[in-house]
Amino acid sequence: MTTARPLPVPDADSAPFWTACREGHLVAQKCPACARFRWPPMEFCPWCHHHGGDWTALPGTGVVQSFVIVYRAFDPAFADSIPYSVAHIALDGADGVTIIGNVLADPPNTLVVGQHVAVEFSDVGSVVMPRFRPIFPAPPTEALPE
Ligand SMILES: [Zn+2]
Repeated sequence: MTTARPLPVPDADSAPFWTACREGHLVAQKCPACARFRWPPMEFCPWCHHHGGDWTALPGTGVVQSFVIVYRAFDPAFADSIPYSVAHIALDGADGVTIIGNVLADPPNTLVVGQHVAVEFSDVGSVVMPRFRPIFPAPPTEALPE
């Protein structure tokens, strides 16, 4: 028997993120006053308290900062997916933004901290979920300042 999986419910702050996912790109909120990225989306900048934020398109890649591999489903709705990984992913192009997501490593126990990943999008009904897949080799890094 399968049960419905709990899904994110977009709110006023996060709706632009979910809309961008449905359109096939990853975005993060950036303060127009101090230019710092923030996550999760919110009305005010936590750094300078400026009201509002600009949604900035990101390259859709990142680096795994930490992860767990789930071998036992805590919700029966996920029983058919175990084992699966849940990772903190530092997003490229959005300094300081780390989001939580699934990494589709095959098999999951090949995932390592420092793994470079790229986003892909899965339509799960009411939302399109960003998920990540390992990429090899690592993408080129920006040139170091001289
Ligand atoms: Zn700010």
